[in-house]
Amino acid sequence: MEVKHIKAIIIIALVAFIYSCARVPMTGRRQTKLLPESELVSMSLTAYSGFLDTSTVVSSGSYQNMVKSVGARISTAVEAYLMTTRDSVDVKNYDWEFNLVDDPTVNAWCMPGGKVVFYTGIMPICQNEAGVAVVMGHEIAHAVARHGNERMSQGLIQQLGGVALAVAISDKPAETQQLYNLAYGVGTTVGVMLPFSRKHESEADHIGLMFMAMAGYNPEEAPKFWERMSAQSSGARPPEFLSTHPNPDRRAENLKKLMPQAQKYYTDYLNKQKTSN
Ligand SMILES: [Zn+2]
Repeated sequence: MEVKHIKAIIIIALVAFIYSCARVPMTGRRQTKLLPESELVSMSLTAYSGFLDTSTVVSSGSYQNMVKSVGARISTAVEAYLMTTRDSVDVKNYDWEFNLVDDPTVNAWCMPGGKVVFYTGIMPICQNEAGVAVVMGHEIAHAVARHGNERMSQGLIQQLGGVALAVAISDKPAETQQLYNLAYGVGTTVGVMLPFSRKHESEADHIGLMFMAMAGYNPEEAPKFWERMSAQSSGARPPEFLSTHPNPDRRAENLKKLMPQAQKYYTDYLNKQKTSN
């Protein structure tokens, strides 16, 4: 076969792959997801252990307890939800871990595969368990919605062009890890995730609100948390929060629209508690 034919076949296969695209859980938005999730998870683990090695992990105290207990509750609810959807296969990719690191930055993130880190700097804004649940829901939502995969896929399309992706992953592990690091901002400034797009932020707000409600946290706490967050803006802008996040008014409006659906999840949780007691 001539080279140009092979190229054409690769390109057709690639395009077909892109458009056989996945849908985001909960919102149903179509997305381009070129990397096998398992591949992304293994790259995450490399970045995550590197991050923990160079960070001060908080091993006790009420903030640390809060992060762990809220994380356990929300991840359990999220897995139970995913099991009822076409994304149930994704559940096996999660090996949840919730850590608090001693760092004044106002930040938190969840890597593909369920490694969650909160920074001590965000805890006073969270204030309480419900506040932690707002951030936890939002961060886990980024992971469940595979926003990292989507962002990396865009990077792969730009950088590798027509090269078949399976080949890229197996033949160029260093380059793919580098791309992961780039997508997550890992390496240059360790553990600081690059901002997600505004579209991804709004979607993480949406899905995160449902996740916190499913786990039995009052979704009405979400707008209150974002108000506290925007009140303390100005000065050094934290990477995950504020920079690309929807403006506070828009955010409050969006959350208000989603509140009836979130309240249904919350009521379901409360009713289940009643019947099990
Ligand atoms: Zn976010």
